[in-house]
Amino acid sequence: ENGCANGNAKRAISFGTINGVSLTDTKQKNIQEQRQRLPIFEHKSKIIQLIRKNKTLIILSEAGSGKTTQIPQFITAAKIHDEGRIAITQPRRVAAISVAMRVAQEHGNGLSVGDYVGYTVRFEDVTSKKTKIKFVTDGMLLREAINDRLLLQYSVIILDEAHERTIHTDVLFGIVKKAQKVREERNLAPLKVIIMSATMDVDHFAQYFNDCPVVYLEGRTYPINVHFTKQPLEDYQTACVATFFQIHKQAPPSDDVLIFLTGQEEIETCAHQIRLLAKDPEVEGPPVKVYTLYAAQPGTQQMAVFNPTPYGTRKVIISTNIAETSVTISGIKYVIDSGMVKTRSFHPSTGLESLKIQRISREQADQRTGRAGRESDGICYRLYTRSQFELMNKSSIPEIQKANLSSVCLQLLALGIHMLNFDFLDKPPLESVEAAFQELKLLGAIESIESTNLTPFGKKLAKFPLDPKYAKILLTAENYGCFKEALTVVALLSSESILLNPPSRREQSQLSRQKFNSGYGDHITLLNIYMAFENIGKDNVKNWCQEHFINMRNILYVREVKNQLKEICKKCDIPASSCGGDIDQLRKCLLAGLYMNVAELHKDRQYITLDKRQLTQIHPSSVVHGQLPHYVIFTEVVQTTKCYLRDLTTLEGDWLNEIAPDYFKSINFRSNGHI
Ligand code: ADP
Ligand code: MG
Repeated sequence: ENGCANGNAKRAISFGTINGVSLTDTKQKNIQEQRQRLPIFEHKSKIIQLIRKNKTLIILSEAGSGKTTQIPQFITAAKIHDEGRIAITQPRRVAAISVAMRVAQEHGNGLSVGDYVGYTVRFEDVTSKKTKIKFVTDGMLLREAINDRLLLQYSVIILDEAHERTIHTDVLFGIVKKAQKVREERNLAPLKVIIMSATMDVDHFAQYFNDCPVVYLEGRTYPINVHFTKQPLEDYQTACVATFFQIHKQAPPSDDVLIFLTGQEEIETCAHQIRLLAKDPEVEGPPVKVYTLYAAQPGTQQMAVFNPTPYGTRKVIISTNIAETSVTISGIKYVIDSGMVKTRSFHPSTGLESLKIQRISREQADQRTGRAGRESDGICYRLYTRSQFELMNKSSIPEIQKANLSSVCLQLLALGIHMLNFDFLDKPPLESVEAAFQELKLLGAIESIESTNLTPFGKKLAKFPLDPKYAKILLTAENYGCFKEALTVVALLSSESILLNPPSRREQSQLSRQKFNSGYGDHITLLNIYMAFENIGKDNVKNWCQEHFINMRNILYVREVKNQLKEICKKCDIPASSCGGDIDQLRKCLLAGLYMNVAELHKDRQYITLDKRQLTQIHPSSVVHGQLPHYVIFTEVVQTTKCYLRDLTTLEGDWLNEIAPDYFKSINFRSNGHI
C-alpha cells in the first residue's frame, strides 16, 4: 500500500517497482512531486526573502496551500534558523502529530519523527537533540515559557492557525512579542516571529505586532456551488446521512465527500449508519470507505484518512472542525456542513464551563465550504437555511473571551505577570479575570486577589500541566493517604476516554464492564477498570481490552500520563500512599480539588450546582444515573438541548463544610437535609 495522500495518486493505477526504481524511491519521488504542486511552492524564494528581511511577518493563505508543512522546511533549506530550533504551534494535538509525521516523511533520508522533525504535545515529547523543526501544541509552548521566558532554544517561532484564537495562542502572542523585544535589548540571539493563518482580521494583528508586514499568498480555488436547506432542520445528524446518500446515488465514485459534525459520538454514529446503509442492496452507488477524524483517535488511525482508496470506491470522511483548516485531505468534491461545532465555554455568570454544541460562525462556514474546491470545482450542502447563515456570528469569539481563565492566570503568575497588566491582542472580560483570581485564591495559589506572586503552594500547582483543580487533588492526596488512587483518577481525567461504546454494540459493551461499576460513581468505576488492567499480564492486555470494550491505546496512554505526573509529584516531595479499599478517603480528596464542581439533588431528578445555582441533570451514561445521590462532584458539563453533568462521584453532605469550609461559607451553603 502506498501511504501518500493525493487525489490523483488514488486514481493512478498502482505503485511498485517501475524501471528498477524501488518502491521507497518512488514513494519519496511522489511526495516531492506533491510538494512542488502545492500553491505555496511557486512563492518559495519570495517567502524566504521576506522571512529573512523581517523579524515579524504575517502569512496568509488558503487552507491546504502548504503553509504548515512547507514554510518550516523553507526556513531550514535557506538556513535562516541558524543554530536554533524552529517551533510551529498548533492548537490541536492531533494536528501537531499528523503534520509532524508528514513533514518527517517529506524531509526524507529515512529519518523518522523525533529526529530532525519532531513534536511535543502534552504528556508526549517526540523530539531529540537533533530536532530542528518542532511542532508543538500552543499549550505546551506556553509551558516551556515558564522555564525559559525568552524561549532561547528557538530562533524562529511560528504561531500557526492564528485565526483559531485559542487561549494559549492568544497568550503566546504576548509572550513571543515580549521575548523578541527583550532578546533584542539584551543583544541575545534574535527571535523571528511568524504568524500564519487561513483567514483573519489582518489589520488588527499587524497593528498589535508593531505594524509588521503581511503577505497574502494566492491560492488556487475553484468555484463551489453552495446549497442551503429550504427549511430549518431539527436533526442535522440524520440529515448528514441522508444528504450523503443523495450524493452517493449520482456522483462518480472518485468524488470524495467530507462531512462536518461535532464530536466523537456523533461521528461514530454517523459512520456506523453510512457503513450499514451502504451495504444495503437496495441502496444505489459504488462501495464506500468511511473514515473518521476527531481528537480522541489514535494517530495512526488519523493518518489513515490520507490513504488513497481503491479505484471505484468512494471515500467519505466524517470529521470535527479539525478538517476545517488544520488538516487538509485531497480529493474532496463534496462537503456536507452540519453548521454545528462543539466548543468549550465558560459563563462567569453561572460559573460553569461546558462543552456546548452550537452554531459555527460565517467564517467557519466559508472555510468548510472551501474544502470542496481544492482541486476542481465542488459542491457544498449546508444543512441550514440562508437566513440561519446570515444570523450566524461573523467570526468565532476568541476563547480568551469565553473560557475559564484560572489555568492561564496561574501560568502567567508563574511567569511573574499579572493578567490585568498583560499585553493582550484582545483583553479578556474583567469578570472572568476576577473569577479566575477568586478561584486561585480559594485553591490557595495566591494570598489575595490582588497578589502578583504565587504562594509556595501556588508555585507547586503551576508545575503541573493540568487544570489547577486537578493539580490540587494530587497535592492534597497525602492528607488523605490516597496518592496512588488520586494519581490514577487524575491521569484518567487528563486522557481521552478509555471506554469504547460502539453504537452498534452499546448494550454489549456496557454489560461487559458492569462488574467494575461502583455505586460511588464514574471516577471510582474508572479507577476499578484501571486497577484491573494493571493486574493483567502483558500478554493478555489486548484480549482483555477487547473483551471489556476498552480503548487499548488510550489506557496505555493513561499509564504514561500517570508516570509523568508521578515524576512531577516526586519533585514536589509528595509521599506515595494508598488508601486501599477506603474509597471515602479518595472521594474526600477529589472534593478537596473539585469543591467548586458540586451539585445537589433538587427536584424532579434535577440537580442544582451549588456555586451558581444552575439546573442540570445527570448524564444518562453515568453509572449513578437513576440513583439520585444527594450530592455529586462532576468533572464535565455537557450542554446540548439540556445541561448534563458527566463523570461523577457521590458525596456525603457533611463533607462539604469539613473539607472546604471557606468556600462553602462564601457561597452561603447550608445542607438542605433530605428531600
Ligand atoms: P496549510 O497549512 O496551508 O493549510 P498544509 O501544509 O497543512 O497546508 O498542507 C499541505 C498539503 O499537504 C495538503 O494538500 C495536504 O493534503 C498534504 N498533507 C498534509 N499532511 C499529510 C499527510 N499526513 N499525508 C499526506 N498528505 C498530507
Ligand atoms: Mg496549516
